[in-house]
Amino acid sequence: MADLVSRAVPGVQGLTPYMPGKPVEELERELGIDNIIKLASNENPLGPSPAARDAAAAALGDLGRYPDGNGYALRERLATRHGIDPARIVLGNGSNDVLEMVARAFLCSGRNAVFSEYAFAVYPLASQAVGAELRVAPAQALDSPMPLGHDLDALLAQVDKHTGVLFIANPNNPTGTWLKPADMQRFLQDVPADVIVVLDEAYYEYMAPEKRGDSRGMLDQYENLIVTRTFSKVHGLAALRIGYGLTSPTVADLLNRVRQPFNTNSLAMTAAIAALDDEAHVARAVALNNEGMAFMQAGLDRLGLGVLPSEANFLAIDFGRPAQPIFDALLHKGVILRPLASYAMPNYLRATIGTSVENQRCLDAMAQVLDQAA
Ligand SMILES: *Cc1c(COP(=O)(O)O)cnc(C)c1O
Repeated sequence: MADLVSRAVPGVQGLTPYMPGKPVEELERELGIDNIIKLASNENPLGPSPAARDAAAAALGDLGRYPDGNGYALRERLATRHGIDPARIVLGNGSNDVLEMVARAFLCSGRNAVFSEYAFAVYPLASQAVGAELRVAPAQALDSPMPLGHDLDALLAQVDKHTGVLFIANPNNPTGTWLKPADMQRFLQDVPADVIVVLDEAYYEYMAPEKRGDSRGMLDQYENLIVTRTFSKVHGLAALRIGYGLTSPTVADLLNRVRQPFNTNSLAMTAAIAALDDEAHVARAVALNNEGMAFMQAGLDRLGLGVLPSEANFLAIDFGRPAQPIFDALLHKGVILRPLASYAMPNYLRATIGTSVENQRCLDAMAQVLDQAA
């Protein structure tokens, strides 16, 4: 028999597939239980704006047609929102798609991608698949003010003349940690102008306004900067797969060369426009998250559990011992969290902030599980 594995390109041979949060239906099948809550994938517990759902439903009548491959309407809407030329917007099938385009356009064997320890798993996946070397910068120490957060100096120290792309998540997933706007400004000044910097802002809307950086302003200063945003998180449209990147006209043109002609679908684009228009829904989601975040932090503190600082819609919880048995025990109580062993954080589970009912159930289940283990 032919050894087909050895025929895969070298980068792909070494890959381990991305591990998504466990779907509710899968747990139902496996354990035969119902009333399951999933707090594993940082989705909006409110789902999308009703207007976005209606818009997607209305678009069902036209499924026989290809979508607008240029995404004209959504790009126009985003251009107005961000005060940017539509030629500087690249739409993606989720913002993951934009990350993949960046890797395809700027990385290959002989180049390297730089990112932090504990950074979002898609950065190494996308980079390694195209043959690039992975350069991982050590994160901030556990006893620092931003434990396990990105260390911008350490990232810079990894950059050399072969660096194609620097990936940064702000806030980062799975840690929830964030960067100070002034530090980010300084950092961009120091990065060589021919290195592409991806600033992944999937959780931007959840950040306290005073902690947010001026990524829009920085885009006009740095041609090598790409800011990515998504409709999967605060807009509650994860199932439809729609996100985008904002960058310079030059970089946008390069990304469009590798973009699949019809990478974003008509349901997603029309729903995204309606989601952008429903600012009240976003405000509700953020308020619910703020409330739930405070509730969970207080509850976890009472259980004697530490958490990493978070400006996102989830918490990385430190159990102080291997968390896999706790994850399994929680599954049996119908609560799905996210193990972080694949991020070299085996003592942590990541919990998405849910509705108040879900948060209470999560804390109750944890209390029972920790009690049984004691
Ligand atoms: C969820 C997430 C994304 C968004 O992924 P989509 O493909 O847009 O669904 C991007 N970056 C980070 C850090 C995330 O956590």
